[in-house]
Amino acid sequence: MTEKGLCIVLSAPSGSGKSSICRRLLAACPDMEFSVSFTSRAPRPNEIDGKDYRFITREEFQRRIDQGEFVEWVENYGELYGTSGGTLEDALIRGKDLLLDIEPRGAKEMKKKLREGVFVFVLPPSLDELLKRLQKRGHETPEAIQKRFAQAASELEEVLWYDYVVINEDLDTAVGQLIAIYQAEKCKTSRLRGTMRHLYLSIKKEV
Ligand code: 5GP
Repeated sequence: MTEKGLCIVLSAPSGSGKSSICRRLLAACPDMEFSVSFTSRAPRPNEIDGKDYRFITREEFQRRIDQGEFVEWVENYGELYGTSGGTLEDALIRGKDLLLDIEPRGAKEMKKKLREGVFVFVLPPSLDELLKRLQKRGHETPEAIQKRFAQAASELEEVLWYDYVVINEDLDTAVGQLIAIYQAEKCKTSRLRGTMRHLYLSIKKEV
């Protein structure tokens, strides 16, 4: 019996360690796939088209907006980011669990449309630590770092409407907490209706 997949929507300010968390979570959960967003921004070194993002031009992005392809999209740091509704629905119907890495405005939009999704906010241990991590990444100018830091501080105000909060002080602990959230959500009765019906019918057949 294949149940509909579960959607975990993860938001975290830049520098909170989200990429490492996502990588570790996907490695630990074979039934989970990463939802590859579309973006108009250029790939960074080591980023792969189709794996990290689907990199498209601004014009192509706009065409897809006009066609109603995105379940949510935003302009962030001057670039466009969006989640394809069709790809999302296909994966969930196939019973695949999906991990979405999207910022709070998009996540809020998703919450309206995907009520059964699980919304998790990853917090840095402190703003000082966040700034240190942003500076350590080394691929941005001081102005870009300041911009990301200011946005991060404003994103923190969104945390209250999320279902769960994970504080990434220690990566192993944070990943462990996310796996625990995922496993508990997978065991919810509301997500196992088909399996229970199947079990019930086979019991009835036996007696
Ligand atoms: P970056 O350019 O550093 O990869 O991502 C910048 C921000 O865009 C991150 O906070 C990331 O979570 C967010 N983001 C990536 N894909 C999407 C998307 O499809 N929708 C929304 N709303 N945000 C996204």
